[in-house]
Amino acid sequence: MLNRRDNDLSIFYGQEDKLHEACGVFGIYGDENTEVARITYFGLYALQHRGQESCGIAVSKDGEITGHKGMGLVSEVFTEKILDRLDGTIAIGHTRYSTTGGSSIENCQPLIVKYKEGRLAIAHNGNLTNASKIRLDFENRGAIFQTSTDSEIIANLISRFGLECKSIEEVLVRTTEIIEGSYALVIMSRNKLVGIRDPWGLRPLCIGKLGNSYVLTSESCALDTIGGEYIRDVEPGEIVIIENNSLRSFSVRNNKPHRLCIFEHIYFARPDSFIEGASIYQARLEAGRLLAIEHPADADLVVGVPDSGITAAIGFARESKIPYGEALIKNRYVGRTFIQPNQEMREQSVNIKLNALRTEIKGKRIVLIDDSIVRGTTTLKIVQMLKDAGAKEVHVRISSPPVKHPCYFGIDIASSEDLIAANNSTEEIRKIIGADSLGFLSVESLLKSPVGAPENSFCTACLTGDYPIKVWPEI
Ligand code: SF4
Repeated sequence: MLNRRDNDLSIFYGQEDKLHEACGVFGIYGDENTEVARITYFGLYALQHRGQESCGIAVSKDGEITGHKGMGLVSEVFTEKILDRLDGTIAIGHTRYSTTGGSSIENCQPLIVKYKEGRLAIAHNGNLTNASKIRLDFENRGAIFQTSTDSEIIANLISRFGLECKSIEEVLVRTTEIIEGSYALVIMSRNKLVGIRDPWGLRPLCIGKLGNSYVLTSESCALDTIGGEYIRDVEPGEIVIIENNSLRSFSVRNNKPHRLCIFEHIYFARPDSFIEGASIYQARLEAGRLLAIEHPADADLVVGVPDSGITAAIGFARESKIPYGEALIKNRYVGRTFIQPNQEMREQSVNIKLNALRTEIKGKRIVLIDDSIVRGTTTLKIVQMLKDAGAKEVHVRISSPPVKHPCYFGIDIASSEDLIAANNSTEEIRKIIGADSLGFLSVESLLKSPVGAPENSFCTACLTGDYPIKVWPEI
């Protein structure tokens, strides 16, 4: 179910030892004067941080659905010519990081499938926890799957219920009654744009407007990018249907507890996004501030691991009154198709993605802030790098609690045996990473950091082991 990172020192060679991104979804319902494919392209550009493996856009025009998708970044997959060809009045798009199914062209989204009234395109962010059970049921009835994604299971359910139900509303309700897990879905039929958020609200989805056109997007930053305005978040368990540029909605929540993934605030979402009323930037600043209160350090300089630790480091510096400074420089041009250095180069500590600013570090006591520790290998290398650059002491502070449990809801968190905090105490981790001291933000403080978010509305399962959904059949 979960992909694992197997390059221990990957941050230095291109891939980070981090919780990997989810996916980004986007949709727009326009008219003949709206360049829906081009707007979706820019929407996906803004959501690129949520997945860099593949992307795609599908458009609907005069009842026909067509699309283009490919492996790589949005800027690599689409050209002017391709966008010109994608003429339509409705469009949806997807940027993918694979959490189920391999990283291959057939698993790229949007998926375009047959439905009794023509074709449907589906873009999915999340992970179904009962996917293997549903897939088995389908296969026992003779169904053949074209992809290994659980998103195709949703497509199959919609197709099946399409034969039995009288309305799209009924089809969607029947589908959501069967699927479990996390899903923010953007679905396009020949004349409708649909947004669905799982009953727990694990993955984000919001509604905006661009002129008269409704827009659906994983994050509000995409609305800023296209010049649109934020209207509201899709509620957990809400299905919104946009047709003829009017929006109707209904709920299939069924009393499930609200559980937005807390890692959207810690790491996944862009700092300029708002989710459910809370600013991601403010939440990270606040996490850093609370971290400084919980785990103060006697030091000369606060340094954030770029980019994910920077905002919390600013919050820590403001609260502790220790100056914030840049001491680690990230090479922003390390692409996806990066050629791995050979063993000899690795042994010589070639630091391709990250380097230390010796002039800022030498002789200083550094507080190093990062958002999380997963396997610990990255933190160990960065601490070593700072010490090699002359740091007198390195005090590591993490703006989230220890990650002790795997995630089954669409985030690529390694299995328990790979998680350093699942198998070691804080003191043992400190010794492994070679830090002079180590402190993690508590769960209580973390939950206070998204100021403005609804209370008691977060999934913290990978931190606490308290899973909001039963996972079939593993748990
Ligand atoms: S288990 Fe962790 S990463 Fe997964 S949804 Fe819950 S909070 Fe997010």
